Amino acid sequence: PTPLMAGKKGLIMGVANDRSIAWGIAKACRAQGAELAFTYLGEALEKRVRPLAQEAGSNIVLPCDVADEASIDATFDAIKKEWGKLDFVVHAIGFSDKDELRGRYADTSLQNFLNTMHISVFSFTSVARRAADMMPDGGSLLTLTYYGAERVMPHYNVMGVAKAALEASVRYLAVDLGRQNIRVNSLSAGPMKTLAASGIGDFRYILKWNEYNSPLKRNVTLDDVGGSGLYLLSDLASGVTGECHHVDSGYHVVGMKAVDAPDI
Ligand code: NAD
Repeated sequence: PTPLMAGKKGLIMGVANDRSIAWGIAKACRAQGAELAFTYLGEALEKRVRPLAQEAGSNIVLPCDVADEASIDATFDAIKKEWGKLDFVVHAIGFSDKDELRGRYADTSLQNFLNTMHISVFSFTSVARRAADMMPDGGSLLTLTYYGAERVMPHYNVMGVAKAALEASVRYLAVDLGRQNIRVNSLSAGPMKTLAASGIGDFRYILKWNEYNSPLKRNVTLDDVGGSGLYLLSDLASGVTGECHHVDSGYHVVGMKAVDAPDI
């Protein structure tokens, strides 16, 4: 049988290291024959991303700071030169000042609110518009979100507000781009030990809580998010758009602490 992603070209944004969610999805797409390009933020991360790109058979490794519109333009110009077209994009990017990922949401500063929204929400819209211009045959766009968009989670604060806006923008983009046969979805991952997560207060407690109280009684892995990401990016999900797909061991259906959950 032909691999699921044979002949598809995809841009992977948000790999920082081999624990990044973007890397999990990239590996799954590569295993099904996708051709990949990668972006990285800053020279320090370039050193980590280059060898991973190579492992994924890619020599397209581009700097991109999504806080800078000119930088996003440069990335898409480079992709246009290399490939001419694009079939899918993974946007696995989020940022907030870690001093505000603890304490009260009520104390969020204006500057960090705007910066968090810029990098974690607007950047997806900005990327989607440029990607759509390079998808004459349709395509699939995927971003990463968290249950803290839907329910209040300790310390998630302004990031929860940003993820709620991100999920809403997925629905608006799905309508705007649907007539071009471009699908837009989000994957709501359970807590995972990544660089970004290390900024969140009491993260080990959150991991344990999810492990003890989710239906599957475990945390999700890079392979879990990789498989579900692959599905949403591939033609298997050809009828799916505007969706928020939970990959969280089922945690989002649970109403209260399991009676047999150990103390943390
Ligand atoms: P990560 O640290 O591996 O990835 C975050 C990426 O965002 C990094 O590659 C970083 O370079 C990039 N980034 C930050 N600011 C940027 C900017 N201005 N321009 C370009 N890139 C920038 O962590 P991760 O957990 O894999 O995060 C990926 C996505 O998954 C994020 O949106 C995060 O909110 C989301 N998510 C994470 C979890 C979790 O528990 N780890 C759960 C649900 C959703």
